Amino acid sequence: MNRRTVRDIDLAGQRILIRVDFNVPLNQDGAIADDRRIRAALPTLEHCLERDGALVLATHLGRPQGETDPALSTAPLARRLGELLDSTVDHVGDLIGEPARQRAQALQAGQVLMLENLRFNRGEKDDDEAFARGLRALGDAYVNDAFAVCHRQHASVSALPRLFPEHARCIGLLVEREIRALDGVLESPRQPLLAILGGAKVSDKLDMVEALLERADRLLIGGAMAYTFLQAAGAAVGESVVERDQLELARRLLERHGEQMILPQDHVVGRNGETKVVESIPEGWCGMDIGPKTIEQYVAAVGDAATVLWNGPMGKFEDEAFRRGTDAIIEAMADSDAVTVIGGGESAAAVQQLGLGDRIQHVSTGGGAFLEYLRAGDLPALSVIPTRLGQESTQASKPGAPAG
Ligand code: ADP
Ligand code: MG
Repeated sequence: MNRRTVRDIDLAGQRILIRVDFNVPLNQDGAIADDRRIRAALPTLEHCLERDGALVLATHLGRPQGETDPALSTAPLARRLGELLDSTVDHVGDLIGEPARQRAQALQAGQVLMLENLRFNRGEKDDDEAFARGLRALGDAYVNDAFAVCHRQHASVSALPRLFPEHARCIGLLVEREIRALDGVLESPRQPLLAILGGAKVSDKLDMVEALLERADRLLIGGAMAYTFLQAAGAAVGESVVERDQLELARRLLERHGEQMILPQDHVVGRNGETKVVESIPEGWCGMDIGPKTIEQYVAAVGDAATVLWNGPMGKFEDEAFRRGTDAIIEAMADSDAVTVIGGGESAAAVQQLGLGDRIQHVSTGGGAFLEYLRAGDLPALSVIPTRLGQESTQASKPGAPAG
């Protein structure tokens, strides 16, 4: 969908309230473990600064449950952003109180102020109107550049944008890039389209399985979710994770779409620190990764596809012994000439670990939002941003350059 972006609204001399997603992973000592999400927002921030905007940034970090938690303050995020922008980024340890209001009021063009963690206030998760009004007072225009939370009904992406006049609401360049990549897959994918789905839970992704079956020529299944399907198909799964309450649905999907859906034919199994490769999982063993024959088959399928869409690790890749399947899929996608799109928190982390992000066409910053967009073709937080008016602005825009 063609939503209005920061390119389409008046920024000069405005205080621009930007909802970013700086929800970065932290080390044990609280240091930023990976600043990709901060870097991903730079094109939008630089765009607004170049046009003489004054920026008020809001993000959440972690899960502080509506209470102040000093370990989850956004102050280190402001410092890191300052380094990346090579300028000062101010921080205020407040959200909707007098300190935030005064600091936002005093901002000059080209200055950047970062608010405290949105989730320190319960109003964020409750999509609370009064909380949203407090935030509204901090800016003249609103930008949503937080793709990863666009499937949520949280105040900063739901109640808040509705309080701005339509001409002063838009998406940022990161969200635009995400939408473009996913729309490409949804609207006119190069055929054949191969989907690969793995990860932890079938129940998280069943809607997705059904949506993908409608779009994809073939759907390869891996990860823990494969064992529910294997059991439904009558295969031995030993001690592997099976979601019993999903078995019936899995059985029905296999009946209806058995030709499209491909399940692993061999496995790396584990038991008390021991591992081995098997075709049929023995009693007492647990399926932890797809096996070498499955890898060969899946890699060949990637080679035959013109579009490859992947979400969810093929095994427990955090463990060195069970990462081969996931790595093989990523490597095959990196080597392929196909349109390649990857989404999901752990999936993106696996790509990052291999250092192959540059060779994938699009690695989404979203997990739930990525899946939901592919399923529904829109997201609640995006639907409150007006679409572009004239065709001329559509033509004037070029595909955004990938961040970092
Ligand atoms: P994403 O975040 O990419 O959407 P998920 O959250 O669905 O992916 O699942 C990722 C998790 O699934 C990883 O932490 C991985 O360890 C786990 N996983 C995948 N396969 C298995 C398996 N066979 N056994 C146990 N855990 C698995
Ligand atoms: Mg995950």
